Amino acid sequence: MLNKTGNIQTFLGCNANYNEAQIVIFGAGYDGTTSNRPGSRFAPAAMRAESYGLETYSPYLDKDLEEDAKVYDAGDLELYGRSASAMLNIVEQATSEILEMGKIPMMIGGEHLVTLGAIRAMAKKYPDLHIIHYDAHADLRQDYLGEELSHATVMRRCHDLLGDEKIFQVGVRSGTKEEFVWRKQHLAQTLENFMDKPVYFTLDLDVLDPSVLSGTGTPEAGGMTFMELLNDMLHLQKFNVVGCDIVELAPNYDPSSVSTAAACKILRELLLVMGGI
Ligand code: MN
Ligand code: MN
Repeated sequence: MLNKTGNIQTFLGCNANYNEAQIVIFGAGYDGTTSNRPGSRFAPAAMRAESYGLETYSPYLDKDLEEDAKVYDAGDLELYGRSASAMLNIVEQATSEILEMGKIPMMIGGEHLVTLGAIRAMAKKYPDLHIIHYDAHADLRQDYLGEELSHATVMRRCHDLLGDEKIFQVGVRSGTKEEFVWRKQHLAQTLENFMDKPVYFTLDLDVLDPSVLSGTGTPEAGGMTFMELLNDMLHLQKFNVVGCDIVELAPNYDPSSVSTAAACKILRELLLVMGGI
């Protein structure tokens, strides 16, 4: 399922071959359960194309994607038109394949439900997995319109797998009253216990303020600035990040492509933070 021959347009500077790569990017362009405006299925291809407007060098980290990280871009999984459960199986299998090779998966969504497929694979390899979750939305509903598999329920499904105190949320400013109450009872309130644990980092780009990133399906005013998010990303170096995703960019709602460019810049920094050569 993963393309290992390299005959695709890749994300900027991701020129390692599959065997030597430390990090493997793959696209999970699925938006079948999106509750508001669809379009995140187009994000992986849009980000690859837009990435060539960036430099491979990060002045923030003094590292270069071509020299200081070994990243392979495996292309996109074939997901659109599939049921949510079929999509999750495919994402889980691809993630497992990367983990079995001792590499770090970096998934580009797609809507946020794709994260559950990755977490299913991650939790098998790392039973003590913890999740750091950036999002405008809590994503903690038990169901959404009767559906238990939805981008509005994804973190609740992750909690089903991992249990209490394993998920830490940043930037949440939207949800039901029940979600906010439930969150206090079941999620971690600090990152204190995350330092020596395997951590999965999931970034729903709508955590950014819509004035920074309008290209998303469920924009929510009152969010982070770009520099606030970037500074947090640089601090991820303190953690043992074993997997990562970046979801919910819906590029066509921002015809200027500024949203896509911002997402690409965040991805470059994440790759360099995790590359760690
Ligand atoms: Mn989300
Ligand atoms: Mn969100």
